[in-house]
Amino acid sequence: MATLRNAGSGAIVSEIAAVIVENRAYLSEIDGRIGDGDHGVNMAKGFSRAAERLAGRETSLAEALDALGQVLMSEIGGSMGPLYGMMFIETAEAIEDAETIDVAKFASMLRAGLAGVESVGAAKVGDKTMLDALVPAVETAEAAAAEGKDFPEALAATKQAAIDGRERTRDLVAKIGRASRLGERSKGVLDAGATSCSLIVGALADGIAARLDR
Ligand code: ADP
Ligand code: MG
Repeated sequence: MATLRNAGSGAIVSEIAAVIVENRAYLSEIDGRIGDGDHGVNMAKGFSRAAERLAGRETSLAEALDALGQVLMSEIGGSMGPLYGMMFIETAEAIEDAETIDVAKFASMLRAGLAGVESVGAAKVGDKTMLDALVPAVETAEAAAAEGKDFPEALAATKQAAIDGRERTRDLVAKIGRASRLGERSKGVLDAGATSCSLIVGALADGIAARLDR
């Protein structure tokens, strides 16, 4: 069974940060259609700060995820700082004592991250938020673990579930956050947080897939 070594895998977080920074303008543009247009700016600021602090350090995946979470939590405003901050802090905590990460551990770290988001905000699936990408990703990872899928397959399915969830936000009416003020007019465009979340889940899955020991 393929596994990821926790030690030395912190660079995955820098790769996630690079994807967010690359998509800064895109994420703000999406947020600008039904929000205030700052999502890419907020996200890129937090993720690039975390990447700067991790640069040149040999860290475990748990340490790097926690460092990212702490920066988002304490230094980034908007809805996203606390939501993603808690997501990464809880994800990190779920694996802090793990030497290796397998499919089941991957699923449980994502589940812990979701619980972190839910501890901060009151959104549910269907409200047109980051949860519309995150919840299907968590459920898909858990199903993969239960079915005994191999790790590469589980990672690919989880990444795809987040993408599919993001795509479904196009048809949703926003029920929470700034975009909810638009009511029916929030329909027809993607949700910014679901878009960033699908990028994060995808980059995490890719980063793990590239480092699996067999
Ligand atoms: P702000 O709304 O303060 O401008 P951002 O633009 O950074 O913050 O983030 C907007 C995103 O936050 C939305 O697209 C949505 O996905 C997400 N969001 C807002 N409120 C919640 C919540 N309670 N739970 C989960 N996600 C939320
Ligand atoms: Mg915004």
